[in-house]
Amino acid sequence: MSGGRVGSGYASARSARLTGTLLSKMESGNRLRCMPTLRDIVYENVREGELYEKLDRNRVRCFACGHCCPIPEGQPGVCKVRYNRGGTLYVPWGYTGVVQCDPIEKKPFFHAYPGALAYSFGMLGCDLHCAYCQNWVTSQALRDPTAVGSPLGATPQRLVQQALHQGAKVLVSTYNEPLITSEWAVAVFKEARAAGLLTAFVSNGNGTPQVLEYLRPWVDLYKVDLKSFDDRHYHQLGGRLQPILDTIRRLHEMGFWLEIVTLVIPGFNDSDDELQRLTEFIASVSTDIPWHATAFHKDYKMTDPDNTRAQTLMRAAEIGKKAGLRHVYAGNLPGEVGDLENTRCHSCQQLLIERYSYLITGYHLTSSGCCPSCGTRTPGRWAREFQGQITAHPFVPHARSSLFSILGPSVSM
Ligand code: SF4
Repeated sequence: MSGGRVGSGYASARSARLTGTLLSKMESGNRLRCMPTLRDIVYENVREGELYEKLDRNRVRCFACGHCCPIPEGQPGVCKVRYNRGGTLYVPWGYTGVVQCDPIEKKPFFHAYPGALAYSFGMLGCDLHCAYCQNWVTSQALRDPTAVGSPLGATPQRLVQQALHQGAKVLVSTYNEPLITSEWAVAVFKEARAAGLLTAFVSNGNGTPQVLEYLRPWVDLYKVDLKSFDDRHYHQLGGRLQPILDTIRRLHEMGFWLEIVTLVIPGFNDSDDELQRLTEFIASVSTDIPWHATAFHKDYKMTDPDNTRAQTLMRAAEIGKKAGLRHVYAGNLPGEVGDLENTRCHSCQQLLIERYSYLITGYHLTSSGCCPSCGTRTPGRWAREFQGQITAHPFVPHARSSLFSILGPSVSM
């Protein structure tokens, strides 16, 4: 995707690789030092946050994620993108790190508007630092000097205009952790709602009661990545298990449409015991929550474990079904996991939605989301009619498409 780079010194950086080279030169103190660093650019494109309280001695406490950082003056929080200046919390505003159009099945949502196009945007930064992150270029942009996201100036109006132009039904905040950029997401989602679009978060689930209350009026669909059921593993990733479990319970109680994903990593979270406890927890919240066990492939800093095999996913799925989950899927290995890409009626086992990877190959639900054979309603958010699938593949609009002219050359503050 092309568009205006945020910040004046950025215009000559024609690719992320070149940008990375420039930034490393800037940060190593050579003669390009006068150019702004990525940190400068991100810190300039902010506005006052809405999810914080003021503490004594000019400190603030942020509530956007489960870390609930108490932040001294002049310092950022753990995520590196929200920071305290003069006793005020400043948060990211007015740019995107990535924009892409995905099939909604890629998020993955399997029980929400099958076939819809999900216009997906992200900013930069994350509150965790998973060694296997598949979006590390944006999520770790301010933490890892080799991860160089390229921010693009954006406004909520322009993003929504572009989503409509592409034929999207859903606008999704994803690619970095959306909780840490909640104020920007809500600004975009207010525009999206006014234009008749649905909205979604693709998140690690490290939330707080405050951020969920803040999001509830504006977010329809919520995917949580439940990475493990072992607090020691979460510590390795930079978080804690309990806030994520609390968030899952709250999301369900508050009426968000919730689906849960676990990337199954050999030797990390794939023991029978851990998968059993994890799926029993989900079932204790609701057996109607779809659970996606997806295959790991070597990425970023995690290159030791083998890629996940189909047998491992099928074992995980069996454990999930034994725990009582009614809708269990195996992802990332299309065509290798038997029936685990399809949706069946939990009452009579009638085949309802057939899939190959992100492609829907058959759709048999009634207009009210019920089984045509026994009439049982399948939990989810269903359109009255399946109107085909816009695309089964992610795509980035061409530089000469309307996106180029829609995204402005600089940030509108
Ligand atoms: S979003 Fe999370 S990590 Fe970032 S400042 Fe707020 S509480 Fe800390």
